[in-house]
Amino acid sequence: MTLQLDDVTLTYPDGDQRLTALDHVSLTAERGTLTAVVGPSGSGKSSLLAVAATLIAPDSGRVLLDGRDLAGLRPADTAAVRRQQIGIIFQSSNLLASLTARDQLLVVAHMAGDDMSVASERADELLDAVALAAQRDRRPHQLSGGQRQRVTIARGLMNQPSLLLVDEPTSALDSQRGVEVLSLLRRLTTDRGLTTVMVTHNQEHLQSADRVTEIVDGRTRQLVSS
Ligand code: ADP
Ligand code: MG
Repeated sequence: MTLQLDDVTLTYPDGDQRLTALDHVSLTAERGTLTAVVGPSGSGKSSLLAVAATLIAPDSGRVLLDGRDLAGLRPADTAAVRRQQIGIIFQSSNLLASLTARDQLLVVAHMAGDDMSVASERADELLDAVALAAQRDRRPHQLSGGQRQRVTIARGLMNQPSLLLVDEPTSALDSQRGVEVLSLLRRLTTDRGLTTVMVTHNQEHLQSADRVTEIVDGRTRQLVSS
C-alpha cells in the first residue's frame, strides 16, 4: 500500500502554549520500499510514526492509505485499519517476561480473535523468517538483545500488515546486531511487499533504505531517493 502524509502539523500542549512536533510534514512511502526517517532526539520522529499509525490525529493535514483519508473515519474504523493493515514495532520491545517467543506472537492472534491453528502456522513461519525457529520456546531472559528484537519484528508481522512502522529498531543493540536487524527488515520489506517506514538516528542504517527523509525541529526534507 501507499502511505502519504500530506502537510501534517501536530502540536502538543506545553504549559499555556503549544509545542509544534510536526510542522507541515509531507512524506510518501510506496509498497516494497524502506523509507528511513533520521533526525536528532526530539525532532519529531516518534510523533511522525504515531500519526502514520493512526494513534494520534494531527491538528491539520491528511494521512492517506492507498489514497483513502483516515481523518474522515470514525475511531472504531481507524482501529480496524490499524489492526488489519498496520504493523507497529516500538523502540522498547515490550515482550512479556513469562511468555515464550512463540507465545508472544500467538497472544496477538488470540487478542484479535483469529483462528489459532492458522495463527500457529503463521507464528512458526515468522519465527523461521527471523531465524528464531530453534529459539521459539525460549523466554525473553533466555534470548540475546538481537534475538528479542527479532521476536518483536515477527510479532509486528503477525497481523500480516501492509504498512510496517518501526521506531529505532536497533537502539538497544551493538552495531553488528544492528546491521543484522536492518538487513532483516530490508529483506522482509522486499519479500513481503511491505511499505516500511523506519525511524533511526543511526546514519549507518541509511544505506539499507530506498529513501531517506531527514527531520529537524518537526520539518522534513528528503535526502536520498533511489
Ligand atoms: P523523537 O522521536 O525524534 O525523539 P518525538 O516525536 O518523541 O521526537 O518528540 C518531538 C517533540 O514533541 C519533543 O520536543 C518532545 O518533547 C515533544 N513530545 C513528544 N510527545 C509528547 C507528548 N505526549 N506531550 C508533549 N510533548 C511531547
Ligand atoms: Mg523517538
